[in-house]
Amino acid sequence: MTNASYPIGTPGRPWGEAEVAAWRSRQSIKRSYETDVLSVIGTLRGRFDVSEYGRLEYASGSYPLFAIRSRAWRDELPVALVTGGVHGYETSGVHGALQFVDRHAADYAGRVNLLVAPCVSPWGYERIHRWNANALDPNRSFRADSPAQESTALMRLVAPLRDRVLVHIDLHETTDSDESEFRPALAARDGKASEPGEIPDGFYLVDDSAHPQPAFQQAIIVAVAKVTHIAPADAKGEIIGSPMVAPGVIEYALKQLGLCASITSAPYKTTTEVYPDSPRATPEQCNDAQAAAVCAAIDFALAHPAG
Ligand SMILES: [Zn+2]
Repeated sequence: MTNASYPIGTPGRPWGEAEVAAWRSRQSIKRSYETDVLSVIGTLRGRFDVSEYGRLEYASGSYPLFAIRSRAWRDELPVALVTGGVHGYETSGVHGALQFVDRHAADYAGRVNLLVAPCVSPWGYERIHRWNANALDPNRSFRADSPAQESTALMRLVAPLRDRVLVHIDLHETTDSDESEFRPALAARDGKASEPGEIPDGFYLVDDSAHPQPAFQQAIIVAVAKVTHIAPADAKGEIIGSPMVAPGVIEYALKQLGLCASITSAPYKTTTEVYPDSPRATPEQCNDAQAAAVCAAIDFALAHPAG
């Protein structure tokens, strides 16, 4: 397969502004951030502190960004950071984060300060897309002078707490559309050939190759396995092209790749990857898996605070 199969651009040549504009014109609103997400955040205001931490400004409109905090915030307690919807199309990342706040956050009162950013990329949420309106992947853009507003706003929110975060869990999905749409689009955008790959059937985690925490990752895998199935390695012993280092776990160089999970100096960091397209997984199960992962991550971190 080459990028000749992608309908925008010239094979072998990276996109310029005209191609990005052509791509953007093909993206339409498929669901509502206000109806699906802001309304749920509104129902949490009675129990949690909700604040607007930024606003995305695009020609097609602007999107307020919201963070949810423990009401009884105490500076002497560690911080648990939960992020969802960095990839707007990854539905259970958004709704799993909100479900965690609604059903489980109260269990942690007085033990840890919770900071939850449930939908980092609302433009992508509405269009069910991986990129922002400028055809940039927010989850490759967490770096100084980021070109992605989504990433800049989240980094600014977290900066004052950067060294006080004990655990950060970033909620994602791996979907069939990664292989059918988003990888071919990426290859076309960058003027490269698209290499076919496999989509793993099941849940997995991404650890930090610079500071791996295998016992922490395994505690999350054990908890999520009670809710949904864990992805096996492929014939090469890999999950999406990376060696499986333990059941359901791969490692990335978070910082070099500009990934969201690199934005704090937390000793415990992980990225969840739920598989919503499995015939064996319902949307409810996907949200449950995300919430179970968050609880297991915080429980492990609080039980092993030294890292
Ligand atoms: Zn993702």
